Amino acid sequence: MVADWLDERSGIVIVNHAFTPHKGLYGSCVTHADEMIDLSRAAALELGLSADTEMADCVSELAATTFVTNSDAHSTPKLAREYHVATMIFPDFENYKRVLRRDGLFQITENVGLWPTLGKYHRSFCLTCGAVATIDQSVCSSCGNKKFTRGVHERLLEVADQNPSISPVHRPPYRHHIPLDMIPGIGKKTRERLLSCFASELSMMRKATVDELVDCVGPMLAKRIDLARHGQLGMGIGAGGVYGRVHA
Ligand SMILES: [Zn+2]
Repeated sequence: MVADWLDERSGIVIVNHAFTPHKGLYGSCVTHADEMIDLSRAAALELGLSADTEMADCVSELAATTFVTNSDAHSTPKLAREYHVATMIFPDFENYKRVLRRDGLFQITENVGLWPTLGKYHRSFCLTCGAVATIDQSVCSSCGNKKFTRGVHERLLEVADQNPSISPVHRPPYRHHIPLDMIPGIGKKTRERLLSCFASELSMMRKATVDELVDCVGPMLAKRIDLARHGQLGMGIGAGGVYGRVHA
Protein backbone atom coordinates (compact mmCIF):
# COMPACT_ATOMS: atom_id res chain seq x y z
CA MET A 1 0.00 0.00 0.00
CA VAL A 2 1.19 3.49 -0.84
CA ALA A 3 0.74 4.73 2.76
CA ASP A 4 3.05 1.97 4.08
CA TRP A 5 5.63 2.69 1.43
CA LEU A 6 5.52 6.40 2.32
CA ASP A 7 5.63 5.73 6.08
CA GLU A 8 8.90 3.85 5.63
CA ARG A 9 10.30 6.93 3.90
CA SER A 10 8.75 9.52 6.25
CA GLY A 11 6.45 10.67 3.47
CA ILE A 12 2.77 11.57 3.65
CA VAL A 13 -0.39 11.06 1.62
CA ILE A 14 -2.58 14.04 0.74
CA VAL A 15 -5.79 13.31 -1.14
CA ASN A 16 -5.82 15.90 -3.92
CA HIS A 17 -8.77 17.66 -5.60
CA ALA A 18 -10.97 15.13 -3.84
CA PHE A 19 -14.28 16.14 -5.42
CA THR A 20 -13.37 16.86 -9.04
CA PRO A 21 -14.83 14.63 -11.77
CA HIS A 22 -11.42 13.64 -13.13
CA LYS A 23 -9.85 11.08 -10.80
CA GLY A 24 -11.05 12.76 -7.63
CA LEU A 25 -11.55 10.34 -4.72
CA TYR A 26 -15.18 11.32 -4.21
CA GLY A 27 -15.56 13.03 -7.57
CA SER A 28 -15.15 9.98 -9.74
CA CYS A 29 -14.27 6.96 -7.59
CA VAL A 30 -16.23 6.27 -4.40
CA THR A 31 -19.06 7.55 -2.20
CA HIS A 32 -17.28 6.65 1.03
CA ALA A 33 -13.52 7.05 1.32
CA ASP A 34 -13.04 3.67 3.02
CA GLU A 35 -14.08 1.94 -0.20
CA MET A 36 -10.66 3.00 -1.49
CA ILE A 37 -8.39 4.34 1.28
CA ASP A 38 -8.02 4.54 5.03
CA LEU A 39 -8.63 8.23 5.66
CA SER A 40 -6.83 8.04 8.99
CA ARG A 41 -3.62 7.32 7.01
CA ALA A 42 -4.04 10.48 4.91
CA ALA A 43 -2.27 13.54 6.30
CA ALA A 44 -4.80 15.87 4.68
CA LEU A 45 -7.39 16.31 1.97
CA GLU A 46 -7.04 19.03 -0.64
CA LEU A 47 -10.32 20.71 -1.50
CA GLY A 48 -9.77 21.63 -5.15
CA LEU A 49 -10.77 24.87 -6.81
CA SER A 50 -14.47 24.07 -7.05
CA ALA A 51 -15.15 23.33 -3.36
CA ASP A 52 -14.57 25.05 -0.04
CA THR A 53 -14.67 24.02 3.61
CA GLU A 54 -18.40 24.53 3.97
CA MET A 55 -19.11 22.26 1.00
CA ALA A 56 -16.69 19.54 2.12
CA ASP A 57 -18.00 19.54 5.68
CA CYS A 58 -21.30 18.21 4.34
CA VAL A 59 -19.47 14.84 4.43
CA SER A 60 -19.34 13.79 8.08
CA GLU A 61 -16.60 11.18 7.62
CA LEU A 62 -14.18 14.06 6.86
CA ALA A 63 -14.57 15.64 10.31
CA ALA A 64 -11.21 14.40 11.58
CA THR A 65 -9.35 15.18 8.34
CA THR A 66 -7.26 18.33 7.90
CA PHE A 67 -8.19 20.34 4.80
CA VAL A 68 -5.56 22.06 2.69
CA THR A 69 -6.03 24.54 -0.15
CA ASN A 70 -3.31 24.27 -2.78
CA SER A 71 -4.97 23.81 -6.13
CA ASP A 72 -2.73 24.08 -9.16
CA ALA A 73 0.40 24.35 -7.06
CA HIS A 74 1.80 21.97 -9.69
CA SER A 75 1.81 24.79 -12.28
CA THR A 76 4.56 27.30 -11.49
CA PRO A 77 2.68 30.43 -12.69
CA LYS A 78 -0.27 29.38 -10.54
CA LEU A 79 1.78 28.78 -7.41
CA ALA A 80 -0.04 30.17 -4.36
CA ARG A 81 -3.24 30.78 -6.32
CA GLU A 82 -4.64 28.94 -3.35
CA TYR A 83 -2.73 28.56 -0.11
CA HIS A 84 -3.08 28.06 3.61
CA VAL A 85 -1.59 29.86 6.57
CA ALA A 86 -0.05 27.82 9.38
CA THR A 87 1.70 28.27 12.70
CA MET A 88 4.93 26.34 13.15
CA ILE A 89 8.32 26.90 14.75
CA PHE A 90 10.28 26.66 11.53
CA PRO A 91 9.02 26.08 7.97
CA ASP A 92 10.40 22.64 7.18
CA PHE A 93 8.81 19.33 6.24
CA GLU A 94 8.88 17.81 9.72
CA ASN A 95 7.16 20.83 11.23
CA TYR A 96 4.68 20.90 8.37
CA LYS A 97 3.73 17.30 9.06
CA ARG A 98 2.99 18.35 12.64
CA VAL A 99 0.75 21.11 11.29
CA LEU A 100 -1.24 18.60 9.25
CA ARG A 101 -1.55 16.39 12.35
CA ARG A 102 -2.77 19.48 14.28
CA ASP A 103 -0.16 18.79 16.93
CA GLY A 104 -0.63 21.31 19.76
CA LEU A 105 0.10 24.82 18.50
CA PHE A 106 1.07 23.48 15.07
CA GLN A 107 -2.09 24.30 13.16
CA ILE A 108 -3.45 25.62 9.89
CA THR A 109 -4.97 28.95 10.89
CA GLU A 110 -6.60 29.87 7.59
CA ASN A 111 -7.48 28.22 4.29
CA VAL A 112 -7.48 30.63 1.36
CA GLY A 113 -9.07 29.43 -1.85
CA LEU A 114 -11.02 30.35 -4.93
CA TRP A 115 -14.70 31.13 -4.70
CA PRO A 116 -16.01 27.64 -5.56
CA THR A 117 -18.46 28.93 -8.18
CA LEU A 118 -15.46 30.06 -10.26
CA GLY A 119 -13.86 26.62 -10.25
CA LYS A 120 -13.86 24.97 -13.64
CA TYR A 121 -15.73 21.88 -12.47
CA HIS A 122 -18.13 23.54 -10.04
CA ARG A 123 -21.33 22.65 -11.86
CA SER A 124 -22.33 19.80 -14.15
CA PHE A 125 -21.90 20.42 -17.85
CA CYS A 126 -23.64 18.93 -20.89
CA LEU A 127 -21.00 17.32 -23.08
CA THR A 128 -23.20 17.71 -26.16
CA CYS A 129 -24.27 21.34 -26.13
CA GLY A 130 -22.27 22.89 -23.29
CA ALA A 131 -25.25 23.90 -21.14
CA VAL A 132 -24.67 24.15 -17.40
CA ALA A 133 -26.97 21.66 -15.70
CA THR A 134 -29.37 22.37 -12.91
CA ILE A 135 -29.38 20.26 -9.75
CA ASP A 136 -30.51 16.64 -10.16
CA GLN A 137 -30.75 17.03 -13.90
CA SER A 138 -30.28 13.74 -15.77
CA VAL A 139 -31.35 14.97 -19.22
CA CYS A 140 -30.07 18.26 -20.66
CA SER A 141 -32.94 20.75 -20.87
CA SER A 142 -31.27 22.41 -23.86
CA CYS A 143 -30.53 19.44 -26.14
CA GLY A 144 -32.06 16.35 -24.48
CA ASN A 145 -28.80 14.41 -24.22
CA LYS A 146 -27.71 12.61 -21.10
CA LYS A 147 -23.94 12.88 -21.06
CA PHE A 148 -22.63 15.27 -18.42
CA THR A 149 -19.34 16.08 -16.78
CA ARG A 150 -20.45 15.86 -13.19
CA GLY A 151 -19.88 19.09 -11.26
CA VAL A 152 -18.39 19.19 -7.77
CA HIS A 153 -21.55 20.88 -6.51
CA GLU A 154 -23.78 18.10 -7.82
CA ARG A 155 -21.42 15.35 -6.71
CA LEU A 156 -21.27 16.70 -3.17
CA LEU A 157 -25.05 16.79 -3.01
CA GLU A 158 -24.93 13.04 -3.75
CA VAL A 159 -22.32 12.09 -1.16
CA ALA A 160 -23.32 14.59 1.56
CA ASP A 161 -24.82 13.15 4.73
CA GLN A 162 -25.22 16.43 6.62
CA ASN A 163 -26.66 19.43 4.87
CA PRO A 164 -26.28 22.17 6.04
CA SER A 165 -22.71 21.31 6.75
CA ILE A 166 -21.23 20.99 10.22
CA SER A 167 -17.59 22.01 10.63
CA PRO A 168 -15.60 20.48 13.49
CA VAL A 169 -14.09 22.80 16.12
CA HIS A 170 -10.56 22.37 14.78
CA ARG A 171 -11.49 23.61 11.28
CA PRO A 172 -9.84 27.00 10.50
CA PRO A 173 -11.73 29.80 8.75
CA TYR A 174 -11.88 29.72 4.95
CA ARG A 175 -11.13 32.98 3.16
CA HIS A 176 -12.52 33.20 -0.38
CA HIS A 177 -10.13 34.64 -2.87
CA ILE A 178 -9.98 35.84 -6.50
CA PRO A 179 -6.50 35.51 -8.00
CA LEU A 180 -5.14 38.60 -9.72
CA ASP A 181 -5.16 37.01 -13.18
CA MET A 182 -8.91 36.43 -12.97
CA ILE A 183 -9.71 40.11 -12.33
CA PRO A 184 -10.84 41.88 -15.55
CA GLY A 185 -8.44 44.53 -16.81
CA ILE A 186 -5.35 43.05 -15.17
CA GLY A 187 -3.13 42.22 -18.13
CA LYS A 188 0.54 41.40 -18.21
CA LYS A 189 1.72 45.03 -17.94
CA THR A 190 -0.59 45.88 -15.06
CA ARG A 191 0.41 42.72 -13.27
CA GLU A 192 4.10 43.59 -13.65
CA ARG A 193 3.37 47.10 -12.38
CA LEU A 194 1.58 45.72 -9.32
CA LEU A 195 4.39 43.29 -8.59
CA SER A 196 6.90 46.16 -8.81
CA CYS A 197 4.86 48.15 -6.25
CA PHE A 198 4.27 45.29 -3.81
CA ALA A 199 6.40 42.41 -2.61
CA SER A 200 4.13 39.77 -4.13
CA GLU A 201 0.57 39.18 -5.30
CA LEU A 202 -0.12 37.50 -2.02
CA SER A 203 1.01 40.42 0.15
CA MET A 204 -0.74 42.91 -2.15
CA MET A 205 -4.06 41.07 -1.91
CA ARG A 206 -3.79 40.69 1.85
CA LYS A 207 -2.16 43.92 2.99
CA ALA A 208 -2.15 46.74 0.43
CA THR A 209 -4.36 49.68 1.34
CA VAL A 210 -6.68 51.20 -1.26
CA ASP A 211 -4.52 54.35 -1.29
CA GLU A 212 -1.44 52.26 -2.04
CA LEU A 213 -3.30 50.51 -4.87
CA VAL A 214 -4.44 53.87 -6.28
CA ASP A 215 -0.84 55.14 -6.25
CA CYS A 216 0.22 52.03 -8.17
CA VAL A 217 -2.49 51.48 -10.82
CA GLY A 218 -4.93 54.39 -10.55
CA PRO A 219 -8.38 54.64 -9.00
CA MET A 220 -10.40 52.46 -11.39
CA LEU A 221 -8.28 49.32 -11.15
CA ALA A 222 -7.59 49.94 -7.46
CA LYS A 223 -11.32 49.92 -6.77
CA ARG A 224 -11.77 46.77 -8.85
CA ILE A 225 -8.99 44.94 -6.99
CA ASP A 226 -10.43 46.01 -3.67
CA LEU A 227 -13.92 44.82 -4.67
CA ALA A 228 -12.37 41.50 -5.73
CA ARG A 229 -10.68 41.17 -2.35
CA HIS A 230 -14.06 41.56 -0.70
CA GLY A 231 -15.91 39.22 -3.07
CA GLN A 232 -18.01 42.08 -4.40
CA LEU A 233 -17.49 41.61 -8.13
CA GLY A 234 -20.01 39.62 -10.18
CA MET A 235 -19.00 36.02 -10.80
CA GLY A 236 -20.10 33.54 -13.44
CA ILE A 237 -20.29 29.79 -12.91
CA GLY A 238 -17.47 27.44 -13.84
CA ALA A 239 -18.30 24.12 -15.53
CA GLY A 240 -16.92 21.56 -17.98
CA GLY A 241 -13.30 22.65 -17.56
CA VAL A 242 -13.96 26.37 -18.04
CA TYR A 243 -13.54 28.77 -15.16
CA GLY A 244 -16.36 31.07 -14.12
CA ARG A 245 -15.74 34.61 -15.30
CA VAL A 246 -15.28 37.53 -12.95
CA HIS A 247 -17.17 40.61 -14.10
CA ALA A 248 -15.94 44.20 -13.83
ZN1 LIG B 1 -27.14 19.75 -23.80
